[in-house]
Amino acid sequence: MSKSTRVPGYMQSKGARNRGPLGDREIRYKCSMQNTILDVLRARPGWQEVSGPNPPQQQQLQQQQQQEKKGSGEKSATQNKDKSGSQNSAPSNQLPTTTSSRSSEGDWDFHWCDREWLHANYDTMFLQEHQKILHFRNHYELTRKNLMVKNLKRLRKQTEREMGKKEAESFDFYPTTYELPSEYHIFVEEFKKNQGIIWIMKPAAKSQGRGIFLFRKLKDITDWKKGEYQPLTDPNREVPETYVVQRYIEDPYLIGGRKFDIRVYVLVVSYNPLKVWLYRSGFARFSNSRFSLDSIEDAYVHLTNVAVQKTAPDYDPDKGCKWATQQLRSYLTAKHGSDAARRVFQGIDNIIIKSLQSVQKIIINDKHCFEMYGYDVLLDDKLKPWLIEINASPSLTASGKDDYDLKHGVLNDVLNVLDLENRLTGKEKRVGGFDLIWDDGAVTTDDGAMECSVNSVSTTSNSFLGCHCDRKKHLREIYTAAQALKKSTPS
Ligand code: ADP
Repeated sequence: MSKSTRVPGYMQSKGARNRGPLGDREIRYKCSMQNTILDVLRARPGWQEVSGPNPPQQQQLQQQQQQEKKGSGEKSATQNKDKSGSQNSAPSNQLPTTTSSRSSEGDWDFHWCDREWLHANYDTMFLQEHQKILHFRNHYELTRKNLMVKNLKRLRKQTEREMGKKEAESFDFYPTTYELPSEYHIFVEEFKKNQGIIWIMKPAAKSQGRGIFLFRKLKDITDWKKGEYQPLTDPNREVPETYVVQRYIEDPYLIGGRKFDIRVYVLVVSYNPLKVWLYRSGFARFSNSRFSLDSIEDAYVHLTNVAVQKTAPDYDPDKGCKWATQQLRSYLTAKHGSDAARRVFQGIDNIIIKSLQSVQKIIINDKHCFEMYGYDVLLDDKLKPWLIEINASPSLTASGKDDYDLKHGVLNDVLNVLDLENRLTGKEKRVGGFDLIWDDGAVTTDDGAMECSVNSVSTTSNSFLGCHCDRKKHLREIYTAAQALKKSTPS
């Protein structure tokens, strides 16, 4: 199908007319990224790339904000993962109404923007009815390591107050964490109570394993603290960076003697009401070296980031260090039984929902915004899943063909769920590889029969992480069904 051809079912229904200027024309998109998402957008029938320089006013604003960021130690525009944003200063909840400076910038229907662009422009733009944009304004409430934990702690406390201790235990999925320097003294007290355990220190706003180190002795941290936070008398000194210090999971679940974490893709299309889609596929990222607590300074043993692992001297790019989530689920099912494997994946569902609920009232909900999160989850040797972090810009750069196919599929299905083409009925609980797991409440399957081919577990939850994912076949089926329904419904 040529790029200018209309998509089947595209804007043919009555409802489609309600979406403003989107009609019998192509969908115009902008994209700030030069990776798989651009391939996906360029290959999408009926979609047309638009480009153009930023209007002067917006350029000025961007420059000004970049200056401010330098001062606050925020990440640069070239960094891929998301940790940016000021610490606690939530911007105004009001949508600004300036339209004068957005003539060329506003000429789009869909924008896969980076966070820097959003921060520079969101407060001065007026989004039209039909426009969709990646990221919520204050996404950092969930994606900065310190803020994520702060929000989780708050909801945990509230749950305990209102529903009791037992219910609050469902929040016990993040390791004990303190923010530095602000909670240094509380951390020291906690440290003294648990002598001998290992802690991990992480910059709150960095990614890809940068600046991370493990320690056992308080002396290591007091030396580091002196270097990092004192003396502050030097006027040229940058503002000290915020860190989190977190209890290190010393007993990770190992496969072949190696540690791994699991990347899970989650799409949020609305925070109010909360509407969450979970992608069936993802991957486990393994470390290159066998796990041991003897050498806590060895990043190749303890950090599973691909960015770290691919620099290992014995790293084999052909072998890679990833397993598909399906492979992991099959492995766990074969080794521990289907009930145990199901509990692992239910635990991950719980992490996703609780973490999103922890910011549900804080995120500035805007019907134009959506977010595709990359969750990082680690299993311990009792198969308990732990939340390590949440990324609002998970890496879309592929490390090989399988990785490219996975990311291509996820991104296409993000667009399929958003459905700017108006091909769906809006009632679907599954679109390609995405299953709707929360729609202002838990979503249940229609038939109750689990279609996960790797085991025969019966569940009513509409969550299929690590299950069979024949997304193309499924898409054909739902598009045909939706078209038939639209034809039979009088307009
Ligand atoms: P970054 O944003 O730099 O990737 P992460 O918090 O994701 O930082 O940590 C990087 C890696 O370090 C993780 O992928 C995981 O392998 C390891 N790691 C992080 N926190 C812990 C922890 N509390 N216990 C065990 N391993 C951890």
